[in-house]
Amino acid sequence: MVGGVRAVARCDELGVAPYSDAPDMLFRAYLTPAFAAAQRAIAGWMQEAGMQTRIDAAANLIGRYEGTADGPALLIGSHIDSVRDAGRYDGPLGVMLGIEAVAALHASGRRLPFPIEVIAFGDEEGSRFPAAMLTSRAVAGTLDPAMLEVEDARGLSLDEALAPFELSTLTFAQAAHAPALAYLEAHIEQGPVLESEGLAVGTVTGIAAQLRYAVMVAGVAGHAGTTTMPLRRDALTAAAEMVLAIERIARDDLSDLAATVGCLSVHPGAPNVVPGRVDFTIDIRSGDPIRRDRAAEQIIDRIADIAERRGTDFDIRRIHDLPASPCDPALMDLLDAAIAAQGQPPRRLVSGAGHDAMVMAALCPTAMLFVRCRGGTSHNPAEHVDGADAEIALQVMIDFILRLGDHVDA
Ligand SMILES: [Zn+2]
Repeated sequence: MVGGVRAVARCDELGVAPYSDAPDMLFRAYLTPAFAAAQRAIAGWMQEAGMQTRIDAAANLIGRYEGTADGPALLIGSHIDSVRDAGRYDGPLGVMLGIEAVAALHASGRRLPFPIEVIAFGDEEGSRFPAAMLTSRAVAGTLDPAMLEVEDARGLSLDEALAPFELSTLTFAQAAHAPALAYLEAHIEQGPVLESEGLAVGTVTGIAAQLRYAVMVAGVAGHAGTTTMPLRRDALTAAAEMVLAIERIARDDLSDLAATVGCLSVHPGAPNVVPGRVDFTIDIRSGDPIRRDRAAEQIIDRIADIAERRGTDFDIRRIHDLPASPCDPALMDLLDAAIAAQGQPPRRLVSGAGHDAMVMAALCPTAMLFVRCRGGTSHNPAEHVDGADAEIALQVMIDFILRLGDHVDA
């Protein structure tokens, strides 16, 4: 079996018991019995590929392949936790491809002028504790200790969940990694761009800047039978116009800009009452923070216009501002060259979703390779990756590692 096909087959193997905590779907949360079982299986595969394995203070599994020289390592990773009712490739594919890349080097007796470490991160999705990317933050050394004071839905603290692993929140931050040469992550695209252009892989330019707002529209509640139409100050019809205006601004932009109203609640919420108040959220993303901020300004202006025309009050609060996390330009060039060397047209694209790579950017230069996924579907059991695409991704990663070796040697 070629490495890319084996990487996909191993993701499939990890998609069922004992590697899932749920009998009828894939759900593997951080620090559960299924998580521990997956770590044991993956550690075995790492050892077969010529790596020495360890579990760090944040319960990440790390396999190390020594180089001809010591010094900062090339880190290759992704996450092995999942959302509830997950697909099999979001996360594990990047780990399996990292193992296959090392296995190929090991089989041909090649050592690079730097060590390689493959990291299977424990918590990226935040599907157990109300915090995400805790374990890559620990590795990157950017963890805020207050983030560790969390409990899962059953009231179990993170500290209690770490105990079976003989770990503790007190020592969690010791997972901070020594300075690293670079971080490479392969991940399914989770979007339709590569598929629509008939491409197997693409170079990620960075992770989109995100802004989130909470909007409150205040009208006047009234009797649905007696408040005549001209006298109404209906918060919901005003909010409806605002939602469509937000969509229009993002649609008219024709770039990677995306704006979403994902939550909306109507008060008091009775069939015979004109809505007096509506709360909704806005999520705005773009790879270009200036474009994102300009869109946010336009959206706020439109909301103010609509509120004024309809006689409603409004309040907008910024609740989340995540800066863009650009990938390293020199590493992007190396990745493009490695893609071209496989006879594939290089294609650069922004990631609208967050990944461990955006956290790891605080530690070292990062590169990300997207792999086509069918229909752009993810966080869904229908998630699918072709073995042939995984094989192309693997060859790109091996070529990237060798090019990085030449780069370091030079
Ligand atoms: Zn993921």
